Amino acid sequence: MRENNCIFCKIIAGEIPSHTLYENEQFKVILDVGPATRGHALILPKDHYRNLYELPEDMAADAMKLAKKMMRIMTDKLNCDGFNLVQNNGEVAGQTVFHFHMHLIPRYKEDGEILKYIAGHPEGKELEEIRRTITE
Ligand code: 5GP
Ligand code: ZN
Repeated sequence: MRENNCIFCKIIAGEIPSHTLYENEQFKVILDVGPATRGHALILPKDHYRNLYELPEDMAADAMKLAKKMMRIMTDKLNCDGFNLVQNNGEVAGQTVFHFHMHLIPRYKEDGEILKYIAGHPEGKELEEIRRTITE
């Protein structure tokens, strides 16, 4: 299941080279060509799904299990001090390649601010209204 003109489908098919860290029947793990830090990698399902909305539930579970396995290996080998898992869905959320992927970003002391948002200060009634919107 692939999509024409998808760069990650082309990488999976071997039509575009990549630095592969791990591969199994379902997934390929490659180094990101524009890394945020040393060792920044991407988990790609071999089948094309645009985002987490489309990814089947069992594959989402397997992707997270693989993230945990890679995180342990990479922390050991790269000697990083922490780790971010990042997964963007939709252009507004920063997604630029529309083939589901999970970022594995090793973090090092003093590597600077890579992921930052400005915390809001909602009142309790606003949080309650949001809770009702989501749950009712
Ligand atoms: P997004 O912004 O969609 O969450 O992340 C897409 C990521 O794919 C970016 O971090 C970008 O550097 C990476 N990327 C884009 N094109 C290629 C490529 O051809 N090869 C590899 N290895 N990574 C890519
Ligand atoms: Zn694809």
